[in-house]
Amino acid sequence: MSDSADRALQERAERVMPGGVSSPVRAYRATGGVPPVIASGEGAYVVDSGGRRYVDHVLAYGPHILGHNPPAVVQAVRAQLDHGIAFGATTEVEIGLAERIVAAVASIDMVRFVNSGTEAAMSAVRLARAATRRDLVVKFAGGYHGHADALLAAAGSGVATLGLPGSPGVPAAAVAATLVLPYNDTAAVEDLFARRGEQVAAVIVEPVAGNMGCVPPVAGFLPTLRRVTAASGSLLIFDEVMTGFRLAYGGAQSLFDIRPDLTCLGKVIGGGLAVAAYGGRRDLMELVAPSGPVYQAGTLSGSPPAMAAGCAVLDALAGGAAYARLEKLGRRIEAAFSGALGESGVAGSVNRVGSMVTPFIGVTEVRDLAGAQRADTTAFAQVHRAWLDAGVFWPPSQFEAGFLCTAHTDSDVDRTAAAFAGALTRLSASLPGGAAAR
Ligand SMILES: *Cc1c(COP(=O)(O)O)cnc(C)c1O
Repeated sequence: MSDSADRALQERAERVMPGGVSSPVRAYRATGGVPPVIASGEGAYVVDSGGRRYVDHVLAYGPHILGHNPPAVVQAVRAQLDHGIAFGATTEVEIGLAERIVAAVASIDMVRFVNSGTEAAMSAVRLARAATRRDLVVKFAGGYHGHADALLAAAGSGVATLGLPGSPGVPAAAVAATLVLPYNDTAAVEDLFARRGEQVAAVIVEPVAGNMGCVPPVAGFLPTLRRVTAASGSLLIFDEVMTGFRLAYGGAQSLFDIRPDLTCLGKVIGGGLAVAAYGGRRDLMELVAPSGPVYQAGTLSGSPPAMAAGCAVLDALAGGAAYARLEKLGRRIEAAFSGALGESGVAGSVNRVGSMVTPFIGVTEVRDLAGAQRADTTAFAQVHRAWLDAGVFWPPSQFEAGFLCTAHTDSDVDRTAAAFAGALTRLSASLPGGAAAR
């Protein structure tokens, strides 16, 4: 548990910020315990205000694929700061990051930088609607595409065909044109497109879901999306804000060999600074202002320090060695989690793609939101507290992926796995889905 320094800071935070946080996932409502207030990060570790060190699997919720403060990235940002912070004009470092992204991601001919994944997804949807002159957008339950009104629909609900407001304050009209299907349900996609395909502007999907925990696409799911959208003149938007440059240098789309029309990027491409992007086919991107009529803008978009950080991160990833290392670490932690589940007799399953991993407790298979919601979140909370006690910083929710970075070592992931195993051993006696169920 956190010490009193953290508790005092947390109380200060809660007086002046809702829930004491700037983004709700950071609060420990679901798991209990006091969230550590972080003072610094270095490599695979973060240190809290009381001086406790944690193996970090939060990694700022995805950006830090190289760990905290990789020297080349820090150096690039410092060098840019010496030249100035923002100009309201195109910079060479911004052109450089755009060129790197276009070279890396096969489906992207042109890119527009924005400041958050929310903006990227919202803008990609606007562009898709403009390009197709249609209104309907299809998303999948449990898919997260930022907090724009239209895309909050049923982000947390189960099977639903017609979107309902995902939050108070979202007018019903804002989600009336959002259709929600279960992730990985190829038949539901085929059925919807058979009936209404000609009205669909776009399908937006996380090619590997990361926001209901890690949920990989089943065989055939992504190819079906590509086929039905192409056949009905709809666009396919891959939201690769989490997966882009994390699962492969060419994104999840290169792993699954699918070419979407539009792609959203974020997280890794900014190295921890506020940057995201959307990009795709040239004929589509040329509809964006000022080339075309689709308006989208940003005072600080293309922030030079963020562009410099992004270039440095991508240069470190370009050779491919990072992905081989992450896959090896991923296999190790997956095997250790699975082994611990097996030994304890606690029911569970481990979903992993590359450096994204989620151990689901209490369910033996998770392939959609409904499956994820069958997980035992009380048991997960106990695991999470055991991690904190053991000095492991993991996202405080069963429905968030944990991350690996190139700075992690075998012994770091072994520590994470050992704390997991310890928690399961204590759980196995008390869980209804535990030893008895096996
Ligand atoms: C994080 C995330 C977003 C939102 O990005 P923000 O920068 O938090 O607005 C959108 N889509 C996916 C897939 C994400 O993982």
